[in-house]
Amino acid sequence: MRKNQIPIFITILIFSTFCVKKKAVSGVPDNILSLLIATSINNLNSGPCVTIEPRQLTSIGNWMPNGNVYGYSEIVPISLNIKRPMLQVFSEYTDFSFGGIFPIWYLDRNQLNSGFLNKDVATYIGYNTHTSMLPYAKDTSYATDPAVSIMNTGEISQPLGFDFNFENSPYLNTTLISSCRGLENDEVNFQTSDAISSQSGLNHFWSSEKTLNVNIIVVNRSIDPLYPIENEQALNVALNKWKENFAQPSVRINLNITVSSHEMPEYDMIFDLSTENAFPGSLGGLFQTTSYIGKPNALNVFLVKGELQYGGVLGVSGGIPGPATLLGTRQSGIVIFVDSHRLYTNSNEELAFEEQQLLGETLSHEAGHFLGLWHVTEATGDNGMISDKDPLRDTPTCHISNDLNLNGYLELFECLGGGGTNSGGTNMMFWSGSVGFTQGDITAEQGWILRLNPLVY
Ligand SMILES: [Zn+2]
Repeated sequence: MRKNQIPIFITILIFSTFCVKKKAVSGVPDNILSLLIATSINNLNSGPCVTIEPRQLTSIGNWMPNGNVYGYSEIVPISLNIKRPMLQVFSEYTDFSFGGIFPIWYLDRNQLNSGFLNKDVATYIGYNTHTSMLPYAKDTSYATDPAVSIMNTGEISQPLGFDFNFENSPYLNTTLISSCRGLENDEVNFQTSDAISSQSGLNHFWSSEKTLNVNIIVVNRSIDPLYPIENEQALNVALNKWKENFAQPSVRINLNITVSSHEMPEYDMIFDLSTENAFPGSLGGLFQTTSYIGKPNALNVFLVKGELQYGGVLGVSGGIPGPATLLGTRQSGIVIFVDSHRLYTNSNEELAFEEQQLLGETLSHEAGHFLGLWHVTEATGDNGMISDKDPLRDTPTCHISNDLNLNGYLELFECLGGGGTNSGGTNMMFWSGSVGFTQGDITAEQGWILRLNPLVY
């Protein structure tokens, strides 16, 4: 069977992602972003359990998923079970070629027509760096297109697979990242439910506490310092807000945070928020050139003074998800813009209490993206497409019919109802936020995705 007979209909080709959280509810959408040997980082209780497997690519044919010609590789066999509960596939052009690159997953690696898309491919297909993921699921709660039933419960996996699809260059860095953290009983048996109200999924309690290492890197320029004192204490309010969000019963992830400062004058202001390039001053450049200060067993967070491309952007994640444990890729981290959080203070001063609280919410939100969470509903509202909302069932959505001012965007005040289809504004992963407004809701299924990330142990 030829590849182009796969019954996949890629209808949404948005060449921009929506992973930038903005300060103001302004009606302006987020219109931008969002080892050569197999190694294991397996420290059980002292660190993440992750297997890294680089893959060599060979093109075995061509097809046209969106009108452009793509090469594709053979199908790589994979398994997903309670001892391997999360898979990520990372791919990036090493020669900076432009053009799309993405994986397609297969329910049965021996059946070419069993291919299905995840939200990431349904959302964007033109980027030269891409990470996709598939979580263990007791049921079919992780929405795909077409919807598939992944019978991976217990220790036996379906014969899953994936292939790489690339538009231009064969010079690819392709890596399979697997979590090898054995699941707890309640994680094995977790089954989600549908969102029937804005409170659905919020009362879940996980039986065990997990840990996420966080490596905060203050990007500094000594002649114009970012912050008066660059240590954990000076960011205490923000870090406590983030810890509080992730300590909720529906998440129960303890943050193990370290803070350090590094002189990087070429990155104290970012003027290009894309990850398509890696030149000085670009976000892709910041992530790609800082592997010497990143930590593979942590979520790497870069605190930067500001950005010049849009103004007011609070933070950006390198990917949804970002590639867990991989350093030196154009997606390797999240960035938070400190000066975008100021309402009462001047640049270089310590942030005021409320400003730090917002910083804590931004840290929570962008960490959510990097660990695999999408906006509960994207800026243009839920109209029934896989690309309109997250792939989870228990998160509330905000249907396009709630666009009261008819401006085409679902703003915070339009998504504060009590039902399952008119809310989401108080969720950590709502697409926009505001000073003084708390967005700490995290559902059981969102907690489940966070806990399954390879970085969490
Ligand atoms: Zn976002």
